[in-house]
Amino acid sequence: MISQDGCAVVVDPGDSAPVLEALDQYKLKLECILVTHHHSDHIGGLETLVEKTNAKVYAPRHPSIPSPFQVVENKELIRVLGLEVAVMAVPGHTLTHLAYFFPQTELGPIVFCGDTLFSGGCGRMFEGSPEGFLASLESLSRLPPETLVCAAHEYTMSNLKFAKAVEPSNRDLDDYVDHCKSVRAKNLPTLPSNILLEKSINPFLRVHLAEVIASAQKINPNAKTASQIFATLRSWKNDFS
Ligand SMILES: [Zn+2]
Repeated sequence: MISQDGCAVVVDPGDSAPVLEALDQYKLKLECILVTHHHSDHIGGLETLVEKTNAKVYAPRHPSIPSPFQVVENKELIRVLGLEVAVMAVPGHTLTHLAYFFPQTELGPIVFCGDTLFSGGCGRMFEGSPEGFLASLESLSRLPPETLVCAAHEYTMSNLKFAKAVEPSNRDLDDYVDHCKSVRAKNLPTLPSNILLEKSINPFLRVHLAEVIASAQKINPNAKTASQIFATLRSWKNDFS
């Protein structure tokens, strides 16, 4: 949630109750809701929130998303809370997945990327192709390095375990693991992350590097291109525990 001057925007409300509580607690009016994709844990609170607050909804075109909402598409610019927001198509986890990039907020640039990019990992590839998913991750990695990454799930520690298996000699990764362990020990979130950090520790943004390629080729010796390396990492992660 972002708020400004008594108004708020919420992204992917899987449940209406915590949003309504926060609106009440901070005396905010819900101006709009941004939806990244159609999975139920991202839209479960939509209907109640719209009914109770009359907030405007922006979402990708998808039959599972309850109407009414305004369809938004790649490269569209919208204004939310008086702030500019760039809509980015980031297919891969789902085919119609969107990310919302706020270039200028009080906290600097922020991207809400749903289940496309997580800290240290990425979402499962349910609908997209490896080529499309990799292109989506590359478009996110081209955002300004200081951009805060608001991913939809706190999967960081399990992602980092996998990242360490892929890149055992990445020292930045060791430092980040130590940092995240201490943060989680205090029961705090590791998120938001940022683009600069993700480029240094997230194997799915590092498929061109020698150690990542070598690790992927131990799993699949036929993986050669960047998208084949990405696909190998993604399916390896599915079975990794
Ligand atoms: Zn999802």
